[in-house]
Amino acid sequence: MTSELADPASLERLWTGATWSEGPAWIPTTARLRWSDVVGNRILEYDAATGEVSEYAREVEYVNGRTLDLAGDVVQCSHGLRRVERDAGGLVTSIVDRFEGRRFNSPNDIVVGSDGALWFTDPPYGLGADGREGHPGEQEYGGCFVFRFDERTGELRAEITDMVHPNGLAFSPDESLLYVADTSGPLDIRVYDVVDGRVAAGSGRSFAAVRPGASDGFRVDVDGRVWTSSGDSVQVLGTDGAVLAKFPVPETVANVCFGGVDGHDLYITATTSLYRLRTTTTGARRS
Ligand code: MG
Repeated sequence: MTSELADPASLERLWTGATWSEGPAWIPTTARLRWSDVVGNRILEYDAATGEVSEYAREVEYVNGRTLDLAGDVVQCSHGLRRVERDAGGLVTSIVDRFEGRRFNSPNDIVVGSDGALWFTDPPYGLGADGREGHPGEQEYGGCFVFRFDERTGELRAEITDMVHPNGLAFSPDESLLYVADTSGPLDIRVYDVVDGRVAAGSGRSFAAVRPGASDGFRVDVDGRVWTSSGDSVQVLGTDGAVLAKFPVPETVANVCFGGVDGHDLYITATTSLYRLRTTTTGARRS
């Protein structure tokens, strides 16, 4: 197994004290890594210049995954408000919250296409009776879909409807492929062909089944490799789905993102902590 992609010994635990860490995004304008403590119902930030972690916001309606839009503002998934929203300099506004008149389940993770369209997954994890990750509730439209929302036209489309609990998602560098993790049923990453902003009908197939545990969230690097969470590590998958490298992490990993001033840092949200791995590559996207 190769390790030229990163030095496993470079793994650092930057901070600990969260309940369930998820949703990392690098914010270049502030050189900070923002992420969610979903169960703790707060948003945290790591300042890469000082190494300090601060609470960005609390009582945030169980926000989960996030990324940056084309303007550089944060777009994020709210379990509690069952919507996708934008945080522009601390001003939080709703972007979309229902499909055909019915509320979403609990949007989980989001990616932005180069055309500005928002693609997000909608599993039911925020609706649980225990209220740990949202508010107890019912699924209203009878599925767990992957949606594409075009803010310019207001068009919302269900692009993927054949998954059990779609979760993390990311495009290949040329956006011809969309990878989506299923955290129920087969517990695999599926891949779909994307043509002109649409998922090609019938193109979905299994890409890889990450073990132990499963893939929750991931990012794609500039060469198309998939850097994914797993139960005991970050694993790097080639474009054929084969495991190219594995970097052990002491806690269950939920998600990753590339960041840092030069883009070579992989930030890792893992259960109670935030970790960082120094890599020799960069992300196809910076956040
Ligand atoms: Mg997720």
